[in-house]
Amino acid sequence: MALKNGKDYRESVRQLNLEANIMGKRIEDLPDHGLVDPSQKAVAFTYDAAHDPATQSLFCVESPLSKGMVNRFSHLHQSTEDLVNKVKMQRYCGTHTGCCFQRCVGLDAANAVYSTTFECDKRHGTHYHKRFKEYWRWIQQEDLVVDGAMTDPKGDRSKRPSDQADPDLFLRVKDQRRDGVVICGAKLHQTGMLNSHEILVMPTLTMRPGEEPWAICCAVPTNADGVHYIYGRQSSDTRKLEDEKMDVGNPVFGGQEVMTVFDDVFVPNDRIFMNGEVDFSGILVERFASYHRQSYGGCKAGVGDLLIGATALIAQMNGVANASHIRDKLVEMIHLNETLYACGVACSATGEQTAAGNYQVNLLLANVCKLNVTRFPYELARLATDVSGGLLGTMPSAADLDDPVAGPYIKKYLAANPEFDVVDRMKVLRLIENIVAGAGSVAYLIESMHGAGPPTAQRIMIGRQGNLDEKMARVRQLLDMDSKLDHGAS
Ligand code: SF4
Ligand code: FE
Repeated sequence: MALKNGKDYRESVRQLNLEANIMGKRIEDLPDHGLVDPSQKAVAFTYDAAHDPATQSLFCVESPLSKGMVNRFSHLHQSTEDLVNKVKMQRYCGTHTGCCFQRCVGLDAANAVYSTTFECDKRHGTHYHKRFKEYWRWIQQEDLVVDGAMTDPKGDRSKRPSDQADPDLFLRVKDQRRDGVVICGAKLHQTGMLNSHEILVMPTLTMRPGEEPWAICCAVPTNADGVHYIYGRQSSDTRKLEDEKMDVGNPVFGGQEVMTVFDDVFVPNDRIFMNGEVDFSGILVERFASYHRQSYGGCKAGVGDLLIGATALIAQMNGVANASHIRDKLVEMIHLNETLYACGVACSATGEQTAAGNYQVNLLLANVCKLNVTRFPYELARLATDVSGGLLGTMPSAADLDDPVAGPYIKKYLAANPEFDVVDRMKVLRLIENIVAGAGSVAYLIESMHGAGPPTAQRIMIGRQGNLDEKMARVRQLLDMDSKLDHGAS
């Protein structure tokens, strides 16, 4: 089975002929659009890495499902080592792209659907697992990008799906047919949707009896009839449309978020992996969220590497690298970033095999990982801003460098440590600006807060998984408070 490289991948997405609304216009040639191109390059990076001799062993893995080499971004984890390697791979991608490379959502969804369908079949006598295996074998063999789609708009948060003024505010089955279902609704915040071949739709929360139409998991091609896309804006995104790319900060790569609407989309039976089994909706949500919370221990640490590197570099360029408070701030940044990574590795190394055979992360540690991610990147961004200085927010545009009057003034007055070029200093400041306040801050900060669920969701899971009863029992045992407890001593 031939694994695609970045060029093959980009060609395969072009052939989908996807269209989207971007900033008030209907765009047909998406891969060539200035906002889309950097995001597609970031996904292409994950394909090229599978062919790079330096990274091949990390990105390529033998799949028992399709009995051949697959890109790890479509692998069903077979061991805790696989889980750890996933995080290593994500850190590598984050460090080299400095943005969201988008391909993890489908990987996390697939691993969650794989184990959930197995257990659902056991309890309900359904046949979802075999179907999903067939589907995912095809994904692996074709080396496709799948976008996991979970987040419904949710309307009035005080109301259940059936109580909303509009039932489509939670994606639902509108029509059950003998040969499939018709779904209607929307999924928000869809990372990399227009760079994907397929969509794996999942329910957004634990559904209750009576909410069967909203307990739907199924696969839809991105170019299916009735699917509509509206491109999300990011701060400073129009800088990507300018001729001079230096002001973007990240001159090559970028992220992509898309509002995706399903307007009466037909899904045939062989692409349905849950249809009304409300008792498995919450399990699927929990597993997907935990995998994606693990993911952040890799990708955010990777972007953090770049931010730390840029901060250390700007300190040198500003001539303050040897100041003790600067060195201390850089150590603090490293400590925070490695703590994120340590949590990603820890929840992977202590993962467990599911009944279906693939491996899932340690749920408690994955949630601890993500809760740290809701905080530490903000502190890293604060320290980077502190070390950079105010020029981070006031620097003239790159276009002024070419102006016969302004250019020489900029080069004269923005000169600092003579060992460094002025324009290089500006480039580093722009990269930091991109990550802490520009288009890159969507992935590094806002997504760190809300991606894979906001901090309250992690707190709920930590509260559930923290096993307070057992901890209290240990206290009672140590203090001999309960004579009925077996002390284990003879
Ligand atoms: Fe992957 Fe991180 Fe982007 Fe999620 S936010 S898709 S984990 S790079
Ligand atoms: Fe995300």
